[in-house]
Amino acid sequence: MTLVYVALGGNIGDRMANLKAAIAALAPEVTVLERSPVYETDPKYVTDQPRFLNMVLSAETDLGAPALLVVLKSIEKKLGRGPGERNGPRPIDLDIVFFGDEVIDLPDLTVPHPRLAERAFVLRPLADIASARMHPVTGLGVGEMLDALEDDGGLISFQT
Ligand code: ADP
Ligand code: MG
Repeated sequence: MTLVYVALGGNIGDRMANLKAAIAALAPEVTVLERSPVYETDPKYVTDQPRFLNMVLSAETDLGAPALLVVLKSIEKKLGRGPGERNGPRPIDLDIVFFGDEVIDLPDLTVPHPRLAERAFVLRPLADIASARMHPVTGLGVGEMLDALEDDGGLISFQT
């Protein structure tokens, strides 16, 4: 079993329902352990689009990282995600943040997630459930990465 952290986000349709449906669809291959609170956040990179809901969860799986990515992509597709523009509006986005302490550099999979350190919308909920966890390459803790951010991402708590 590997302890993994998955970031979820979406800004199209019933955002809360999409988060819940994605979590439900992870079983049985992926067993969810802990869920962070949900935050409403500013869109980053492409700013002219609706605000997102974001959260992070910890989970256990016997899958390898590439197989986990296949599962996540199939859930995205099932929940109506089209090919669409990168960083654009989507019902659900599922990213692997950490996969144990593995460092992976494949053409379609980089772990830890390459843009983790710049994303308040991932670091804030991740810090809620794994503040002391360390990035296996930089050695920085999740809380340290969050403190180092200048852009707070416009995060507000979302009542669930
Ligand atoms: P983003 O998540 O950056 O907004 P996408 O969801 O469109 O963008 O992802 C584009 C591609 O990123 C995916 O097809 C996937 O193969 C690749 N990718 C690389 N590393 C990861 C990771 N750690 N988690 C999820 N996808 C990843
Ligand atoms: Mg993604």
